[in-house]
Amino acid sequence: MTEMPPLKQAVRPRHSLGGRLVLATLGFCLLFTAVVAAVRTWSAWQNNVAVMSGELNLIAQVYQRTLSKSIWDMDRESLQTHLASVANVPSVGQVVVTLKSNNRAPEEFTRQREGWRPSKQAPVLRMNLDYEAFPGSKESVGDFSLYGDERVLWQRLRGEVVAIIATQVAQSLLLASLIMLMFSKLVTVHVRRIAQHVGQLTPANLQVPLGLERSPARQDELTLLVTGVNQLQNNLSDYLDRQQRDEKELIAHRDNLALLVRDRTSELESTNHRLENANALLDGLARTDPLTGLANRRHFDEIKEIEFRRALRSGNALSLLVCDIDEFKRYNDAYGHAKGDQCLRAVAGAIQSSCARAGDLVARIGGEEFAVLLPGTDAEQGARLATQLLRAVAELGIAHRSSETAPHITVSIGLTQLEHDRVHTFDALFEQADTALYLAKSRGRNQVALFELQRAQDTTGAPL
Ligand code: GH3
Ligand code: MG
Ligand code: MG
Repeated sequence: MTEMPPLKQAVRPRHSLGGRLVLATLGFCLLFTAVVAAVRTWSAWQNNVAVMSGELNLIAQVYQRTLSKSIWDMDRESLQTHLASVANVPSVGQVVVTLKSNNRAPEEFTRQREGWRPSKQAPVLRMNLDYEAFPGSKESVGDFSLYGDERVLWQRLRGEVVAIIATQVAQSLLLASLIMLMFSKLVTVHVRRIAQHVGQLTPANLQVPLGLERSPARQDELTLLVTGVNQLQNNLSDYLDRQQRDEKELIAHRDNLALLVRDRTSELESTNHRLENANALLDGLARTDPLTGLANRRHFDEIKEIEFRRALRSGNALSLLVCDIDEFKRYNDAYGHAKGDQCLRAVAGAIQSSCARAGDLVARIGGEEFAVLLPGTDAEQGARLATQLLRAVAELGIAHRSSETAPHITVSIGLTQLEHDRVHTFDALFEQADTALYLAKSRGRNQVALFELQRAQDTTGAPL
């Protein structure tokens, strides 16, 4: 089976998603804090200005009568005392009282806090100073102006701004911490668990499903992820099982195929063997005489040439016998053809068993005619063998009542020996043997005749 390597162990991340989320939240919160602080500061400033206006108004209400009376009474000392008292109130930067008189130029009394400067931001209050000496007679005695101290406004605002920023920053930090905590509890822990599970997957543990330590009632994106991972594991496991099954089948098929090939090969080999045997048999049959089992004429023709050339080349002796059953026509006539066949087989066996030497070839070359090729055998040895043959056939004792030669089957044998310097073809050698056979027949049958050149020349009148 193809082994799948285990997935790489999940690397611990250098940055956390929760951390990035917190940083983003903090950034947003600080921006939001800045905007909110600006708005709240502006609002606090407006409020402080309104509060200061109210304070100036209140002071004016309180001191209006006393100042009017001091002016009416022309009591400058009391007026200065009251002005000093007004100027001592923290929100007041400067106080100015202008005295009006019909016959004199207006006179101005001013008191201001140390370091005070005129400001467009701080509120200013102006009002008439009226005095009612007796009921129903109201008379204007001067003007009264109160200038707010801008430094007081700034001082009050500073404290408030610190509080605003502190609460906004605290809010932001709390929010970021909460998000970090929630994200870590709801997401980061589970994402790490999923990464660890996937990192430890191997083909062996694909069946172990991924599970998260949280309430199964929760159905969210993490549930989708877990379902997807488990589905993937199942698919992968099925795929590996299928692959394993296919591989096993493939191996089984391969083994079957090998067996089949082996069987077919041995069948072919045995068929081949049988064919070879059959061919050898056919070959043998083609070269064998079916009646006697001796070599046939065809085989004799093949071998005779080979042996003749070898004898010529080597100068070794080569003798040839030609045997013919005597008066065989009469035998057939007397005993029938079947008996004739039996006789042929018996004579063939006798000739064959007399020629036990390797290299000797006994063949049936005609109806009742046999040839014996004797490589390495000279005329003398050939004559001895021929005589043995003659005796072996006679000893078969096959009765032949119509024969004029003997009361049993006999053969006549013509013998010749190769004379290397005179005979150059096998046919010439064969003719000599045939001539010798003719001689044996003519001398009364049942005998061996050796080819003699002189006699042959006498008979035919020509050299062989
Ligand atoms: P000779 O002594 O002069 O050889 O006389 P012969 O009768 O043997 O010779 P001939 O040539 O006149 O006759 C040969 C006979 O051999 C003729 C034939 O009937 C017989 N013959 C040839 N082939 C076979 C065979 O296969 N089976 C049988 N039964 N007889 C055969
Ligand atoms: Mg014959
Ligand atoms: Mg014959």
